Amino acid sequence: MDIGLLIDNEDVPARAGGAFERRDPVRGDVASRAAAGGVDDAVRAVEAAAAAFPAWSATPPTARRALLLKAADLMAARADDFAATMTRETGATTPWGRFNATLAANMLREAAAMTTQIGGEVIPSDKPGCLSLAIRQAAGVCVGIAPWNAPVILGTRAVALPIACGNTVVLKASELCPATQRMIGEVLRDAGLPKGVINVVTNAPADAAAVVEALIVHPAVKRINFTGSTRVGRIIAETAARHLKPVLLELGGKAPLIVLDDADLDAAVDAAIFGSFMNQGQICMSTERIIVDETIADAFVAKFAARAAALPAGDPRGPVVLGSLVSEAAAEKIEALVADARAKGAEIRAGGTREGTIVTATVIDRVTPEMRIYSEESFGPAKSVIRVRGVEEAIRVANDTEYGLSSAVFGRDVQRAMEVARRLETGICHINGPTVADEAQMPFGGVKASGYGRFGGKAGIAEFTDLRWITIEGPQHYPF
Ligand code: NAD
Repeated sequence: MDIGLLIDNEDVPARAGGAFERRDPVRGDVASRAAAGGVDDAVRAVEAAAAAFPAWSATPPTARRALLLKAADLMAARADDFAATMTRETGATTPWGRFNATLAANMLREAAAMTTQIGGEVIPSDKPGCLSLAIRQAAGVCVGIAPWNAPVILGTRAVALPIACGNTVVLKASELCPATQRMIGEVLRDAGLPKGVINVVTNAPADAAAVVEALIVHPAVKRINFTGSTRVGRIIAETAARHLKPVLLELGGKAPLIVLDDADLDAAVDAAIFGSFMNQGQICMSTERIIVDETIADAFVAKFAARAAALPAGDPRGPVVLGSLVSEAAAEKIEALVADARAKGAEIRAGGTREGTIVTATVIDRVTPEMRIYSEESFGPAKSVIRVRGVEEAIRVANDTEYGLSSAVFGRDVQRAMEVARRLETGICHINGPTVADEAQMPFGGVKASGYGRFGGKAGIAEFTDLRWITIEGPQHYPF
């Protein structure tokens, strides 16, 4: 069955009538067929959102909250549907799919809670009798663009808080999971959101640039948020800059996990295993570089490699921990990174094999800066171990990257670990925990080439509202 665009709460075909297929990355059969939206469809979706904006932005917060809470319950109730669709479209395992729906439901609940927290302030004025207010107001139509790797979480994050703030939205789905992200729109529609508040556009891969540009440049669009690669993030930021529109960018990562000499090794191994291999390493916060003090490196690597080697990989419908990578190209990239590291002297301590899109959990020891995997985001299950001498070198290596999203530090001396955390150039750092973590209420975002702006809780309100200065004046005394 073809998936239509969601515009004005209606399921509509693309104006030009086309559709595109997404194939199951493991089995190769058709996972979904979705409307191949074009520029005129993007414009139509923005116009629907613009028409809905006056009424939605004037809807009382408690009414907005009730609808978002209903949507949260629906999303949680449909977790199995979400997971099955994700498995077909992206090769994800069922636990990752269910977790996506559960966290996304929490994002809707948190957004619901925020509807009454969009506050302002009264600022003392030097003018007698003047009441001077700073108030936050919905901005207008917000465009959200989300990737395939955590499709329910990131698609929901792109729209939940904007809607809670009184904006209306257009979600542009990833070409790799149109059915999954279209379901987010259905949940919100079925919860009773008025027509035009949420619109979902799908497009064939070849039309992505044109559709995204049309969405950004439309005069009714006041905010853009983008989660995806740094390469495309730059294009989005440049286009938005030409039209002077604010953008929130959540881009790539190369998260370091530092294991200091006093770390609890078993706890560090547990965190490294989870942070490295959850969703086959296809998470922006995935542990990409394990930076280990040389005094404990042999013991750490032995445990880490043994655990990694025991992780089952295969068709995500089977009893596996690692499912499929999103595409053959993604698997080939991992293979090339491993071959490059091996040729330059690294030791493959676990994995290093692949069958189609299935890549085993791979541990690459003694990675050095000349190897591609030292600096390139692998976005897969091949993990670098970099041995360092002391805290200063650990910090230097951790910061030796263009990216700055998540990080972690393991050490029993928590004061020292905190000092390391302060000096890491990342938006997020967890002491004695994995690099992969997200909660709806936390300020989530990166620095450097990982982007700017913050999703989550109160930090997100500032992104999706305009701060206005409004005064009620007293008697005036003019100089002339
Ligand atoms: P991607 O950048 O290739 O694609 C994202 C979106 O960009 C898609 O919807 C696509 O249609 C659109 N796009 C592609 N080409 C375009 C163009 N020329 N102009 C405008 N838009 C275009 O990213 P992806 O492969 O889907 O996702 C993986 C990346 O996302 C990784 O780098 C990962 O680290 C990052 N990511 C970041 C976060 C975060 O929160 N920081 C979360 C998840 C993923």
